[in-house]
Amino acid sequence: MTRVLAEHWGSASSVHAMGAQARAWIDRAREQVAAMAGCEPEEVYFTAGATEALNWAVKVVGLGEAGVPRGVVASPIEHEATLAACRWCAGRGAPMHWLPVGGDGRARPADADIRRSDGIGLVVLMAANNETGCIQPVGDAVRLARGAEALLLVDAVQSAPWGLEPFRGSGIDLMALSSHKFNGPQGVGALLIRRGTKFASWIHGGGQEQGLRAGTPNTASVVGMGAAAAEVVTRCGMAGAVADLRDRLQASLLSCVHGVSVTAGDEPRLPGHLHVSVRGVQGEAVVMGLSQLGVFASAGAACSSGAVEVSHVLRAMGVSEERGRGAVRFSLGPETTADDVGRTVGAMTEVVAELRALGGCGAG
Ligand code: PLP
Repeated sequence: MTRVLAEHWGSASSVHAMGAQARAWIDRAREQVAAMAGCEPEEVYFTAGATEALNWAVKVVGLGEAGVPRGVVASPIEHEATLAACRWCAGRGAPMHWLPVGGDGRARPADADIRRSDGIGLVVLMAANNETGCIQPVGDAVRLARGAEALLLVDAVQSAPWGLEPFRGSGIDLMALSSHKFNGPQGVGALLIRRGTKFASWIHGGGQEQGLRAGTPNTASVVGMGAAAAEVVTRCGMAGAVADLRDRLQASLLSCVHGVSVTAGDEPRLPGHLHVSVRGVQGEAVVMGLSQLGVFASAGAACSSGAVEVSHVLRAMGVSEERGRGAVRFSLGPETTADDVGRTVGAMTEVVAELRALGGCGAG
């Protein structure tokens, strides 16, 4: 990335030698992303992140052609990028159908009551949930989409870094990827479009990305995404070790911090995800306390205007208000060490004890 920014900063759209050099960099990155995702390079369309990729896919299908909106089937535990795009389409006449979700954190495409005559254009399911880490039944979504004669969009943002859900031969038509989930730069991602899929442009202009996504490509970021994609194989080899550390963190939190419960702990999960709920405290307050001790986690709840809201994912799973308010998510990666786990357990013990001692402030 540094070399591209310092030396090879020609626009990939230019015909001169510097442009050709930028194109060569981008072609290499496209091959690297294709190798990671298990698809052809021509099926990779670079975007400014997965939010754009998801919006593109949902909106062009949901809006339909010639002013006739198509139905969209999605799980209510999708990322907000998908949910907001679905709501946008619904506001313009696209019928929305929501998949049932079990208390185990898994959507149930197999139980959806969808018929061919429902005019569905798109089925959307994430391969793994970003809050709970729960792996979703993509195979059932493939069958649902085929039965409805609809396209299937899979949000593989969380699963791709662990080598799950290769594109080729999967029956998936569209897939969203985000570079920063596998150690690449932020603000770059891709939409994979299965060869032969009839698909429209969303961002119009200079005809870049095979005429489907206009705009001068962000060469340095694309190159960074490609380089990170090339490292994913190594990363996948460490999945077992990461899951072991995650399990150690889970066991230590359960034994050292009173009132901790694990969300979807018995379900198939991503190796680096641990979602817990701490009784009697608010997740946001825990995350802020941890941050002061140098441990960076996330609350599964969004705090707006002072009111802590239970996340839409936990709501869909039927998790209680109290449990939902105490939600905290830890993400581990190949860089995480046993020392980090020990420090996190120590920090959690301290922060939760302090919040409980404070009573009302931070206690849920
Ligand atoms: N989908 C999922 C499951 C995510 O976790 C995220 C980001 O956290 C996104 C989509 C959005 O990706 P981006 O940050 O590249 O826009």
